[in-house]
Amino acid sequence: MQRNEILSALKNNPDVSVLIVGGGINGIGTFRDLALNGVDVLLVERGDFCSGASAASSHMAHGGIRYLENGEFRLVREAVGERNRLLQNAPHVVKPLPTTIPIFKHLSGLLNAPLKFFGVLDKPSERGAVIIRLGLMMYDAYTGKQRTVPRHQFLSRKESLAKWKQLNPSVVNTAVYYDGAILQPERLAVELVLDAESENPNARALNYVSMIGGSEDTLLLRDELTDETYDVRPKLVINAAGPWIDFTNRKFGLSTRFIGGTKGSHIVVRHAELRKAIGENEFFFENEDGRIMLIFPLYDCVLIGTSDFPVEHPEEAHCTDEEIDYFLSLTRRIFPSLSLTREHIVFQFSGVRPLPRSTAKTASQISRDHSIEVLSGDWTNLRFPIYSLVGGKWTSFRAFSEQVTDKALAHLGLSRQKDTRSLPIGGGRGYPRKPGELRIQIESLSAWTGVTRERLKILFERYGTRAETIATYMNGGTDFILKTLPDFTLREIVFLAQHEKICHLDDFVLRRSMLAMLGQVRREMIAELANILGNAVGWNDEQKAAEVARTLSILQDRHGVILSVDEGLSVDEGRL
Ligand SMILES: Cc1cc2nc3c(=O)[nH]c(=O)nc-3n(C[C@H](O)[C@H](O)[C@H](O)COP(=O)(O)OP(=O)(O)OC[C@H]3O[C@@H](n4cnc5c(N)ncnc54)[C@H](O)[C@@H]3O)c2cc1C
Repeated sequence: MQRNEILSALKNNPDVSVLIVGGGINGIGTFRDLALNGVDVLLVERGDFCSGASAASSHMAHGGIRYLENGEFRLVREAVGERNRLLQNAPHVVKPLPTTIPIFKHLSGLLNAPLKFFGVLDKPSERGAVIIRLGLMMYDAYTGKQRTVPRHQFLSRKESLAKWKQLNPSVVNTAVYYDGAILQPERLAVELVLDAESENPNARALNYVSMIGGSEDTLLLRDELTDETYDVRPKLVINAAGPWIDFTNRKFGLSTRFIGGTKGSHIVVRHAELRKAIGENEFFFENEDGRIMLIFPLYDCVLIGTSDFPVEHPEEAHCTDEEIDYFLSLTRRIFPSLSLTREHIVFQFSGVRPLPRSTAKTASQISRDHSIEVLSGDWTNLRFPIYSLVGGKWTSFRAFSEQVTDKALAHLGLSRQKDTRSLPIGGGRGYPRKPGELRIQIESLSAWTGVTRERLKILFERYGTRAETIATYMNGGTDFILKTLPDFTLREIVFLAQHEKICHLDDFVLRRSMLAMLGQVRREMIAELANILGNAVGWNDEQKAAEVARTLSILQDRHGVILSVDEGLSVDEGRL
């Protein structure tokens, strides 16, 4: 159903079984599971899908080896299982990720870990080889017999320096283990939304719609594109507002303090030597005070992060100069011979982890587990319960969503019909697994649609097996390669505009594509895209210019990307 159809249906009938507030990965995961089980469910997201904490992740599908130290064995076991499922169910965007820990000490941490486990030590510290080996053995054990990824390995100093030529020569060992890389989390989230809607006509998801208040049995929604308001009468509300959970509960007149968020930032750099030096490996390590850092291969760029500072208000999350200096200096510590400077940064981002409020002395000690907090009863002045989804990781969203769905089904008096454990996601459905299969699929699709093999290869990399639908659509009318963006064609973008709930130009530039994150945006490209998207969704010239201005300001203010006028067309010239 298109956006306008969903809104007019809501005007005619405000009754819905479940209202989900928040379209981050936890809200979306729950939406999909409820849809699969036949529930009529409405999800509202006040911005674009996956634009809050879920857009700020380190892109890892991981068990969280570090959490073993805080005694979070249940969480690590669950997350390792979910990492394996993501590799199976979304192979088009979640890939095995060899992860290397450079170790600069033999013994440090051996004593700290048990002390921390028993709550005696509050200060983090850099781990040594022995404690890392113990942690990795446990991690392998959780991976189980399934062996979705290989076991860990330890390399000597000599082996490490032979393999990683630019690595700091003071390394004593490296440990290599496997996790997963979620290469395009924002696309994966949208594919989940689309899967849910195609599964169940009574599952409806709206971006740019806020929940703004309400009482008794009725809540008020506001369409952020038109300012129009809508009533909704749910039997159950799921507050999946991530770091904004307490702010959202306040809109129901309820004062909660569930969240104690911590901010984390990242930079993306384009540096050919660094990219070559890490190969397809993530480097995952701790600085001397025990804070975790990662250097992660993201297509032809390198993602570097992250920080972990408590913040009171999620809007405070910006990548600061101090964080950038810290990321650059720690990368130089691992690869001292490479000259990495601010000039190499093409994108930066920051977000707030929706962690449970805690009295832990350091941010790294706050539990990363998830829980459902229930608000119900006469004191709430509401006729429906509210489930607040506290915590959670991208990796384990499916398991968390399953727990929330089971609880919701019980509340509605329904029982589970289907589960999501082995359910492929979006373009992961029917994705070729054996070597050579992808080539055969591409060749037959090329013969059938007339789209070249080179372009189909790009489409498969972006969309997995949804490439088939997109290529068929591309073949259905006059298509051409974009002037400013030869990697895309007109009809590919029109397809996304019409089928992937794009409301603003930045939805495409930041979340339906990797253009901004990989530093590929140019001013003239923004103008050309505004024109194509605008024609597809019906913007007039004034709206196109407003979209260009909005995108440029988001890129500059939130992501440090300044596109000078000299680099291309002005906003006015953008009205092609
Ligand atoms: C720096 C950082 C690094 C991370 N790295 C990883 C990692 O590598 N691997 C991993 O597994 N996890 C990682 N995580 C954790 C993971 O990203 C988050 O836990 C997860 O994305 C939280 O999702 P969510 O849906 O709960 O919250 P969000 O994604 O924030 O979604 C909540 C949504 O609610 C919306 N909203 C708020 N109020 C309203 C309202 N009134 N009406 C409508 N909508 C509303 C917001 O706009 C927002 O989009 C990381 C997190 C951060 C911040």
